[in-house]
Amino acid sequence: MDSSEKSLGFIPYGRQHVSPEDVASVVETLTSEWLTQGPVIERFERAMAEYCGAKYAVATSSATAALHLACMAVGLGAGDRLWTSPNTFVASANCGRYCGAEVDFVDIDPRTYNLDPVELEAKLEQASHRGILPKVLIPVHFAGQSCRMEEIAELARKYDVRIIEDASHAVGSRYRSLQVGSCAYSDMTIFSFHPVKIMTTGEGGMILTNNESHYHRLLRLRTHGITRAEHEMQGQTHGPWYYQQLELGHNYRMTDIQAALGLSQLRLLDEFVARRRVLARRYDEALCGLPIVLPQQDSLSESAFHLYVIRVQKERAGKGRKQVFEALRAAGIGVNVHYIPVHTQPYYQALGHAWGDFPQAETYYQEALTLPLYYDLSFEEQDRVISVLASVLT
Ligand SMILES: *Cc1c(COP(=O)(O)O)cnc(C)c1O
Repeated sequence: MDSSEKSLGFIPYGRQHVSPEDVASVVETLTSEWLTQGPVIERFERAMAEYCGAKYAVATSSATAALHLACMAVGLGAGDRLWTSPNTFVASANCGRYCGAEVDFVDIDPRTYNLDPVELEAKLEQASHRGILPKVLIPVHFAGQSCRMEEIAELARKYDVRIIEDASHAVGSRYRSLQVGSCAYSDMTIFSFHPVKIMTTGEGGMILTNNESHYHRLLRLRTHGITRAEHEMQGQTHGPWYYQQLELGHNYRMTDIQAALGLSQLRLLDEFVARRRVLARRYDEALCGLPIVLPQQDSLSESAFHLYVIRVQKERAGKGRKQVFEALRAAGIGVNVHYIPVHTQPYYQALGHAWGDFPQAETYYQEALTLPLYYDLSFEEQDRVISVLASVLT
């Protein structure tokens, strides 16, 4: 957001909340011994694992890096297949391509906009007959609402598919009364701490898992594939300085500076989520009389509401999504669209995907509009969004 937008009272669709305590934590780390991957990383990882009810956590430089490492940890490679939702950010699919795997998609449930377990079952059965089952499935908890993980996990067991939850939107969400990130229904779960997400480290991500061998592999892959643990080495150590590179990894480390921000933000996470839920309920109540589709919530899911997405259907609303988008932007309201179906991106079209492949995701995309929703959005600002939207639609 630039300053001219701010002075006109521009309301973005999402933004971070950074408190004076956050600033103090970061400054304290800046003047400490460690700047990158020191003791604060470990504290942040432990706190996050505890919050989620998972055994292990590995902080990374971004959720994109976390997705890549998670795919590497389960051995995804050339000749393998990865499936994800078309209604996501491109990173959920790109991680498969980094590993040389083929990427395919499973269409969404038109009610929740999440990967549809019914579609998944049919597609797995077909793929099983043809001997082209995926190695990895990445369900994405769109807008913060968990996918139906119980059904998905059962199918994954039946067809021997690894599950990596992309919970970039769902830090602080719950499913069946468990914290998303508990990995009760998956091999690993990844979070994003990008500033528009629920909590932030500037850039940053994390992988949660209950699997000890995945955990050790992730730690190694995060730092070039290097180990300093003698029991992991081939042959004898040369001395206290010695390390070995056992495989090809990356530099995907988070800094201690970022972890200090994350650790401090984590203290407010429940408050962030509670406020988002209040604002979402306020939208529900204020908008239910308008000719639009409001977000529907599965009874098993308690969303952290990263996004509040409405659907504008021309037949019902008398105006198309594009017209409504432009009218709101002209009024200084930072609406957005999540997501352009990934399979329609030119990069994925060049790999053989096409418009028409996933009709639910495509229809949804034509109608979707994300309204502003973030911790510091005031009721007055929200009322302005509501009244402008109402006047555009009536
Ligand atoms: C933001 C986002 C990512 C990528 O997160 P980064 O931390 O920016 O790499 C991946 N998947 C989804 C669904 C996201 O929304």
